Amino acid sequence: MAGKDDDDGPAIGIDLGTTYSCVGLWQHGRVEIVASEQGDQTTLSCVAFTDSERLVGDPAKNQVARNTSNTVFDAKRLIGRTFSDKFVQAISKFWPFKVISGPRDKPMIVVQYKGKERQFSAEQVTSMLLIKMREIAEDHLGTTIKRAVVTVPACSTDSQRQGTMDAGALAGLNVIRIIPEPTAAAMAYGLDKKASSSGEENVLVFDLGGGTFDVSIVNVAKGIFEVKAVAGDTHLGGEDFDDRMVKHFVQQFKIKNRKDISNNPRALRRLRTACEKAKRTLSSAVQTTIEIDCLYEGIDFYSTITRALFEQLNIDLFSKCMEPVQKCLNDARMDKSSIHSVVLVGGSSRIPGVQQLLQDFFNGKELCKSINPDEAVAYGAAVQAAILTGQDCDNENSKLTDLLLLDVTPLSLGLETLGGVMSVRIPRNTTIPTKMEMVLSEHQMIKSIDSDNKTSIHIQVYEGERTRTRDNNLLGRFEFCVPPAPSGVPQLTVTFDLEVNGILVVSAEDKTTGQKKKITVNKRFYITKQ
Ligand code: AMP
Repeated sequence: MAGKDDDDGPAIGIDLGTTYSCVGLWQHGRVEIVASEQGDQTTLSCVAFTDSERLVGDPAKNQVARNTSNTVFDAKRLIGRTFSDKFVQAISKFWPFKVISGPRDKPMIVVQYKGKERQFSAEQVTSMLLIKMREIAEDHLGTTIKRAVVTVPACSTDSQRQGTMDAGALAGLNVIRIIPEPTAAAMAYGLDKKASSSGEENVLVFDLGGGTFDVSIVNVAKGIFEVKAVAGDTHLGGEDFDDRMVKHFVQQFKIKNRKDISNNPRALRRLRTACEKAKRTLSSAVQTTIEIDCLYEGIDFYSTITRALFEQLNIDLFSKCMEPVQKCLNDARMDKSSIHSVVLVGGSSRIPGVQQLLQDFFNGKELCKSINPDEAVAYGAAVQAAILTGQDCDNENSKLTDLLLLDVTPLSLGLETLGGVMSVRIPRNTTIPTKMEMVLSEHQMIKSIDSDNKTSIHIQVYEGERTRTRDNNLLGRFEFCVPPAPSGVPQLTVTFDLEVNGILVVSAEDKTTGQKKKITVNKRFYITKQ
């Protein structure tokens, strides 16, 4: 745990959302979610570049029609990934801004900025967003902020966590802890219920955002939060529901006007904005209208949509949301009856159709909606920031310093052994931090021998659940050279040390010679296998 000192001033909690971001801080013995100058509790995760300035949040969105190709959203999805990653290829096709392959296959966003073509990494764009969140908090507090706890999705890889740390550093923030979003939400919820004397709570956190979906089971007992299991879908969220509505209206426009707007980015974008707004309205009303003047070739578009039709268009996606819930229960070896509370997080968890399916799954259990689903993650991050910096020390009512967080690794981590076999060292859902050691037997080693008779042992680190390493993600590799031993068999001990921030250090030591070598898995080594 970081030092509890006030030398660096207060620390903030930032929920870096795919669609919206939110900042919270600990003040007067409680969490405050800070509003931007526009009065919004959340800030659109969007950065725009113009001839004269850089805009973040709503001002970026407001000029998007005039400056589509230089308005960047979804940058978070690129963090810690390579350009050739299938996911990046699939998703970037639909973006109006350009993404190219940079050094080491890093995705680079290309924009026109102050009259010149510029390239920015996802970490750089994200840092611009983090600067904005920091400024919102600074304006509120009237003091400089240097430290932050930043949240990441539950299923984020080591390189995505590392990329988020890098973005923080670029924003001039010391990221004192990276925590998974559901852990933060569970923490916010735990505080809400801290007076409860039930002894133990199993909380299922259902986080359905704009582009990602995470389900986690968090056990809260005696002030300790432990994530028992995580499951999710990185391709499911509110934008998919928007897509379905957009397709529906494109079809309707075609039938009414005999014109296809699907190849007109501007018309599509205007329709998408209207659909997203209509979708939100349908969470509280049973019917709404769509009105767009001059949508295409001077034709106005007016239509209505009911909540029932919206649900019908999305019912398969809503049902798909229940699969990770069951998977998470299976992984945690729990029955649905062992879940005490179901917590809703993320803007899309407001959709009544989704809530109904979830409630039915848990045999009618009341869902916890008391914490604003847009703010719960930032709330928890602010609590964690207060714990790490001792900001709550003066508050006698607070038990913050008694709380501990335990996170789990979302994917299994292991080594390639002979025959391309994945030898798992740290199984999925192992509590972080953790350390595992193995002695590599000769029949497991992948070796090559050079002309000087020197043996190189190839250590290749993977993450994933498949039995063959070719189907998993290569995280990093190094070679361990051993001199020719009389017996010919080096005694190699390989250690996997997964640190509290999810950063993995893999080291190898030859016990006979004492020679050591290690790698820290970060984005420089990260390669996604196709
Ligand atoms: P997040 O990634 O958690 O910020 O969630 C953003 C997503 O939530 C976007 O797709 C929004 O359209 C969606 N959203 C926000 N409010 C509502 C609402 N009232 N009803 C349905 N979806 C919403």
